[in-house]
Amino acid sequence: MKVYKFGGASVRSAEGVRNLKYIIEDQSELFIIISAMGKTTNALENVLDLFYKGESDEAVKAVAEIEANHAVIMDDLFGAGVVPAAVRALFDELTETVKTGVPSSREWECWYDAVVSYGELISTTIISEFLRAEGVANKWIDMRRTFVTDGNFKYANVDLFATKRLLERAVNEADEKIYIGQGFIGATPTGETTTLGREGSDYSAAVVASVLGAESLAIWKDVIGVLNADPKIFSDAQYIPELTYLDAIELAYSGAQIIHPKTIKPLQNSDIPLYVRPFGDKFAPGTVIKNVIERPVEIPIRILKRKQVVMTIQPNDFSFVLEERLAKIFTILEDYNIKVNLIETSAIKMSICVDTSRHLPRVIEEFARYGFTVAHAEGMELLTIRGYTPELLDRYIRKGEVMVQRSKTLLRIVRPEGSEL
Ligand code: ASP
Ligand code: MG
Repeated sequence: MKVYKFGGASVRSAEGVRNLKYIIEDQSELFIIISAMGKTTNALENVLDLFYKGESDEAVKAVAEIEANHAVIMDDLFGAGVVPAAVRALFDELTETVKTGVPSSREWECWYDAVVSYGELISTTIISEFLRAEGVANKWIDMRRTFVTDGNFKYANVDLFATKRLLERAVNEADEKIYIGQGFIGATPTGETTTLGREGSDYSAAVVASVLGAESLAIWKDVIGVLNADPKIFSDAQYIPELTYLDAIELAYSGAQIIHPKTIKPLQNSDIPLYVRPFGDKFAPGTVIKNVIERPVEIPIRILKRKQVVMTIQPNDFSFVLEERLAKIFTILEDYNIKVNLIETSAIKMSICVDTSRHLPRVIEEFARYGFTVAHAEGMELLTIRGYTPELLDRYIRKGEVMVQRSKTLLRIVRPEGSEL
């Protein structure tokens, strides 16, 4: 079994769906995970907002708009005005939900999952129907019946053991050799729909690959593979043919957008190689990520993470920051979901570089309550360079950095946003 994952950008048009068919048509024993088409998830978040505010007429209209966008694709794939019955049924269900649902009857997060999950249900149904019409036999799999999660709505955690059993059964029972499932969604053991967090489809694909013991996972994207820098930021970005899982985790952690950080773990644990392959070029190798690689990365990798804030925390009574007081600081940060990217400590001071958050004023208040004084500076960026050279060290270490951390392979610099690249 192989697993392929296609993101929303790849299937945002009829042309994209036809290209998906071209990529998969010579495969057998293939599990395909697909995201919602184009920007559908954002549009559904808007439907949810309207619905939850009690503006159900507006919500119904917003659903109709989403339907119209999909109709453009379906007209092209199936013929003008043709909507497969299964797709019709999904739009009817969604419309009915926002028309008659009572917002206060469930938690917001629960409604979120109930509404936003339609993006993937609709995209996979359209694609499954199209492939069938084109003679590519396939089995549509309802991930709400096979992906078992806890009830942490909007950020659900997958029960790998239960999922393995159900997914294996679904695959074994099907006569077809190509399976199509939704990324991003699952359900609780009692059947309530859940989602796994925005951009969660890569993770879904990794879990499918892991529980089915797939030989590989390929994520098809709008890039030639993994590059050593974001080409939108660095004009001299270069292609990397091979990476280790460790490289990939560090890249994701430092802010590289290419792979969702959660994706690597299930693959690494089962030793399944991950390919990042170009959607526009079926025969290009892309980048492979695995445990042991033959050609180690020899070029420096640069990752820029913007919207950073530096907080310097000092206890009012001059006691040591470290030891038990450190635990308090991190508990507060965790309570507000603040992601810490860099830490520097001295005898009575600690500086941290964190992702900006709307909760920062509250966090600073909390720190004050526990006897800390906080200075903070917004508008920072974190530049991470893996495998830095003396030239790069020279180029980037100037006066004006706010924090610097250096190991044998890793250089991390916090500096004002917009500093020289
Ligand atoms: N459709 C979901 C999102 O846009 C999941 C994904 O694309 O990975 O967040
Ligand atoms: Mg997406």
